[in-house]
Amino acid sequence: MDSKVIFKDIVLRCIDCGREFVFTAGEQAFFADKGFLNEPRRCPECRSRRRQERDQTIEYPIICAACGREATVPFVPSEDRPVYCEECYRRLKVEEKVSEPAGRERTRPPRW
Ligand SMILES: [Zn+2]
Ligand SMILES: [Zn+2]
Repeated sequence: MDSKVIFKDIVLRCIDCGREFVFTAGEQAFFADKGFLNEPRRCPECRSRRRQERDQTIEYPIICAACGREATVPFVPSEDRPVYCEECYRRLKVEEKVSEPAGRERTRPPRW
């Protein structure tokens, strides 16, 4: 008995960009082999973009308003607020001199 599944190229629509993309027979075989039961929901471009975004740590260079050192922060520093390095930020926050700036949104979970 031949249990081999014959895959055919199918066209799917990407949930991110709405473009149609081909889920090829080869990819389907690969998916099946890996035990993935669901069809991909995103086109290859969106998938690789999302993967990159996840891997990328975007850090913005700043000069700390407290200690004057160069540092980087994981958010866009605002022009009208003092920006602190991680160390000073923590220290000042503990001293409750600094309230959580509105712009300090974490778009990704912290890595430490
Ligand atoms: Zn897409
Ligand atoms: Zn500092």
